[in-house]
Amino acid sequence: MFRYLKNKSVFIQVVIFWLIVIILVALANYFVYKSVKLKYLDDTEEIAKHISEHIEDELTQNFRNLRNIAKEIDEEDLKDYSKIVSELNFRIETSRYRKIAIAYLDGKSYATNGEMYDVSQRDYFQRAKKGEEVISNVIYSLDDETQVNVYAVPVYDKFGKVVAVVWASLDTESFSKSLNVKSNDVDVYLMDNFGNLIAGNSAEDNFFEVVEIYDINKKSIENLKKDIDEKKGNYQYFEYKGKKVYMYYKEVMKRIHNESENWWILVRVNKDIVFEATRNITRPLNQISAILIFIFTICFAKIFNKYNQINKSLRDIAYTDSITKGHNEYYLENYLQKNGKKFKYRAFISLQIENISAITNVNGLKGVEYILLEIYNYLQEYLGEDVVIAHSHFGDFKFILEAEKREDVFQKLDGIYIEKIDRSIPIEYYIGIYFMKEEKESFKDLCTYVNLAKHNCNKDNICCVYNEKMHNQELEIIALKDDIKRGILNKEFKAWLQPKYDSKGEKVVGAEALVRWHKYGSIISPYIFIPICEEQGYIQDIDELVLIDVCKQLRKWIDQGKEVVPISVNLSRNYLDKEDAISRLIEIINEYKIEFKYIQFEVTESSLVGNEEKLKEILEKLSKKGFKILLDDFGVGYSSLKTMADLKFDILKIDKSFVDQIGTEKGNNIIKYTVQLCKQLEMGVVVEGVEQKEQFDFLAQLECEYYQGYYFGKPMPTKDFEKLL
Ligand code: C2E
Ligand code: MG
Ligand code: MG
Repeated sequence: MFRYLKNKSVFIQVVIFWLIVIILVALANYFVYKSVKLKYLDDTEEIAKHISEHIEDELTQNFRNLRNIAKEIDEEDLKDYSKIVSELNFRIETSRYRKIAIAYLDGKSYATNGEMYDVSQRDYFQRAKKGEEVISNVIYSLDDETQVNVYAVPVYDKFGKVVAVVWASLDTESFSKSLNVKSNDVDVYLMDNFGNLIAGNSAEDNFFEVVEIYDINKKSIENLKKDIDEKKGNYQYFEYKGKKVYMYYKEVMKRIHNESENWWILVRVNKDIVFEATRNITRPLNQISAILIFIFTICFAKIFNKYNQINKSLRDIAYTDSITKGHNEYYLENYLQKNGKKFKYRAFISLQIENISAITNVNGLKGVEYILLEIYNYLQEYLGEDVVIAHSHFGDFKFILEAEKREDVFQKLDGIYIEKIDRSIPIEYYIGIYFMKEEKESFKDLCTYVNLAKHNCNKDNICCVYNEKMHNQELEIIALKDDIKRGILNKEFKAWLQPKYDSKGEKVVGAEALVRWHKYGSIISPYIFIPICEEQGYIQDIDELVLIDVCKQLRKWIDQGKEVVPISVNLSRNYLDKEDAISRLIEIINEYKIEFKYIQFEVTESSLVGNEEKLKEILEKLSKKGFKILLDDFGVGYSSLKTMADLKFDILKIDKSFVDQIGTEKGNNIIKYTVQLCKQLEMGVVVEGVEQKEQFDFLAQLECEYYQGYYFGKPMPTKDFEKLL
């Protein structure tokens, strides 16, 4: 079962449960023991009470007898002891006394057995002579070795003066008989104030001495002596002759006997009996508890087993990528935590399919999933089974490469040739590399580093290694994101206009609206913020702001009676993806009551890739409304001719990169044939980025329709453009 105990918190809870059960059982045992002990001690007290009453009765009776005998003896009788002895003989027949004697004040005693004894030195005689009624402790009989107790009472004359003593001896055994309790577990003793045992099993011992020898803990005997001094009944725990016992003690004969020499009843109970009795009660309780713990343990093991199985399958689900059925990032994270590096360099790598949305648009969701699976299988085969490849976030493959030399990592990555997976559109990818510094870098940080490296990739450099500069750039971008948001709210984005000239390059026949960010007095280029706006989804706001600005300006100029020219507005792919794109555009234009012929829309080639059907529909709708649609940046993308054939554009904008090649044979030909093609397709042509007179001269020969470029005019604020109208 312990192999399942990986989950510490559950294990701790079970251990706590076990401990609680064990503590409860121990407490139950303790309380049972306590109550059993109390019951035994109660019983012991009861026994002591009965026996002491019994002994008191016996002593009272014996003293009364002897007192009566003493009363019947007068001064006259003392003159003839034989007469008294014969009277005593008569009395002894009805009593349990061994012998009765009359003692004269000199100690000479005449007993019923016909013997004469001298008791002058005996303590009981001395005290009876002084007027006390006395019973001796255990003493040995004057005739033999029998243990006896002697009762002695004084004989008075008519003036109340002691003239003689009557004493009688009684076998100690008769007390012992009174102390006999019919139980093997209980013993009763009679003891005097000084611990001398008068009767009981070990009448020869002195209780205090015996206990002091055996008992290591002297406290009990001290307590007992104190209680005796205070004449208080109580019980103590002793080691008595090697046994653990409870001793109950109670005073006997308070008034009859000399105050300072009273007798005490001792009742002894073995502690073992209390244990035994406790065990009888607690045994079933403990057995039930043990069974319950056992059942619980079995149940727990079963539940824990199940829990671990579920956990394992959940872990499998959590660690598996649903598309490739291979590992995902969580698995890789876990793998990194558990596996240290084996070589000098450990590179964390992210291979990101860049044009995943275009691939999705072309192949649909099922198709793209199949392609991703193919890429995964290819990577696994190429990199080797040992390399853990995680796929996540739709097109992001992360893995670790280790090598003794950094170059070996690059060499391995160089050999990746995903392009061989032949598809309707080529698969483009970027690779971000981060060489790990420490073993314990957080996975989140590793992902950030490779993402930053990827952000620095471009078509000419698809593989980038992370460096700290990238991190700072990223921080700047983060700051920029917040700034853009604020700029949109503050309407800091304005439309500038770049003129478009006619075929002779003489007359302004149109303009392109290009957004400028007026941030704290400086003007920021769209190349800096447009990619962020596209990524963050702000581009739709920017496109609308520019359109509103353009409409406002046109309205103003129209109202002023100026002759206006059509102005083209750039529309981003994100904007065209909006459900209500067309209705929003028309709504804005109508608000300023601008004729549709004055507004043109520029759409870039790359924004057309994927979901072409829907785009075609949108562009056709705009076209039908009377808007002219321009295909921007022609020549930069890859589907140029196909796009031209499929989507009916009114005007084609030849990109500056073509214009830059004017002067070379190849460059001249490309432009020449493109212009010819447009004419055949009845499409207008705008040549963008014309910077030099030579370029214009060449283009003029081709009789291009429109020109746009710094040679004619840079993008400018609307108030400057106004002067060109
Ligand atoms: P574009 O739409 O192709 O715009 C033409 C870019 O080329 C403009 O850069 C323009 O200033 C620049 N240009 C024009 N003639 C010359 C020339 O002779 N030499 C050189 N070196 N450059 C020339 P700009 O304004 O920085 O805009 C860059 C791009 O930002 C635009 O390319 C367009 O794709 C995007 N953009 C600008 N404004 C907007 C907008 O309002 N909405 C959207 N969605 N995109 C915009
Ligand atoms: Mg444009
Ligand atoms: Mg352009």
